[in-house]
Amino acid sequence: MSTHDSVLHIFLFPFLAQGHMIPIVDMAKLLSSRGIKITIVTTPLNSISISNSIKSSKSLYASNIHLLILKFPSAEVGLPDGCENLDFVISPAMIPKFISALNLLQTPFEEAVMEHRPHCIIADMFFPWANDVAAKVGIPRLNFHGSCFFSFCASEFVRIHQPYNHVSSETEPFLIPCLPRDITFTKMKLPEFVRENVKNYLSEFMEKALEAESTCYGVVMNSFYELEAEYADCYRNVFGRKAWHIGPLSLCNKETEEKAWRGNESSINEHECLKWLDSKKSNSVVYVCFGSIANFSFDQLKEIASGLEACGKNFIWVVRKVKGEEEKGEDEEWLPKGFEKRVEGKGMIIRGWAPQVLILEHPAVGGFVTHCGWNSTLEGVVAGVPMVTWPVSGEQFYNEKLVTEVLRIGVGVGVQKWVRIVGDFMKREAVEKAINRVMEGEEAEEMRNRAKEFAQMARNAIAENGSSYSDLDALIKELKWLSF
Ligand code: UDP
Repeated sequence: MSTHDSVLHIFLFPFLAQGHMIPIVDMAKLLSSRGIKITIVTTPLNSISISNSIKSSKSLYASNIHLLILKFPSAEVGLPDGCENLDFVISPAMIPKFISALNLLQTPFEEAVMEHRPHCIIADMFFPWANDVAAKVGIPRLNFHGSCFFSFCASEFVRIHQPYNHVSSETEPFLIPCLPRDITFTKMKLPEFVRENVKNYLSEFMEKALEAESTCYGVVMNSFYELEAEYADCYRNVFGRKAWHIGPLSLCNKETEEKAWRGNESSINEHECLKWLDSKKSNSVVYVCFGSIANFSFDQLKEIASGLEACGKNFIWVVRKVKGEEEKGEDEEWLPKGFEKRVEGKGMIIRGWAPQVLILEHPAVGGFVTHCGWNSTLEGVVAGVPMVTWPVSGEQFYNEKLVTEVLRIGVGVGVQKWVRIVGDFMKREAVEKAINRVMEGEEAEEMRNRAKEFAQMARNAIAENGSSYSDLDALIKELKWLSF
């Protein structure tokens, strides 16, 4: 066997949304640092942010990461040109078209695999057909679903046993069957198509994804064993899946520049932002961000602003720009009158994209109001900050349970209902109260201490011979054994 033959080549194929592309780019960096050749498969528009993220890495290994660009079939499915990312899917009518476009990527993806003959495919769960492509060329397909063991186990037990059929209202709690520890949930926190028992393109999309999950070679998790050991064991033993936990992936970013260049281009100069944080006392700033997709009504934004003002803490608040609309409306439409003047020096609003990981790890940041997307949640854990949980959709309500009841490093703002895009309506008093609970007092101190312990465990996990480091070793060994 020549040396060349023994270099593993892996195709990484992330779902077209920042919450999936960001950890995959981190995964590319991590795998390439272990001598693996990586090809990230994506579409023209998405390749721009991916390419910028890779370029921001000074690591020697970045040259081992290649991009393979597939044309996105917008015209074929009736989507506007450039609508290549979930971020651009702004109306419910666009969702089935977006799903059709994803499915049309199968043929070009298969052709690319045939041509380049990688040894393994790590594809997002939303490309269930990647199993078939891998089978055709006789290579393993690993799944990436961008979430954690806890949420996967919880949602699967709920899906299989349907405990929500035995409650008399949408708000009556039920126990999640089979899940280690007693965790209750409500019907209201389930996706619409589950709680209303509707069969539609979304339920079908999810079914296919879960079916492929159960038949693929194994799963790569952006998590670490010590964070959710019982649930990692449950996933492997009860569901009988092969899984490798190799996270937290965000920790592969070492330099300021690469931390600042995750996902989109920042809407603020990172050095200015860090300078502002440097001027604040440690643990005095609350960071508020709801990820790359969640979108709030103007009324809800006003309540958040008032809650932030009322709690009197320093803050950085990221307000997403909605794609398709030029701006998030005029400031006066979503900010209380005179708000910015009153909070001058105390609060910073970032309109657009924030260098989240850089902000979170700054010692001045003492709390994180998050929508509980898994990446953000794990980034909060890595930063060792207590969280205010404000789940919106996806599996975020399960992640909230992990944070507030299992890890006990956060408190819920009180959201009760899963919604597809617009956030549930929370009053300013609830926002103020939850922020105060994580920022000051004995309870906050206890949560902060626990959070810091998990942050240390995260670092230990990725260090040589740590649990994630060793699991990655085991994965590479197995892939080499299968390939050569
Ligand atoms: N993110 C960021 N800046 C922002 C918003 C989000 O860097 O202004 C990053 C964040 O650090 C995380 C990802 O985008 O890595 C969002 O993923 P998550 O799973 O938290 O939520 P989603 O966007 O998928 O809902």
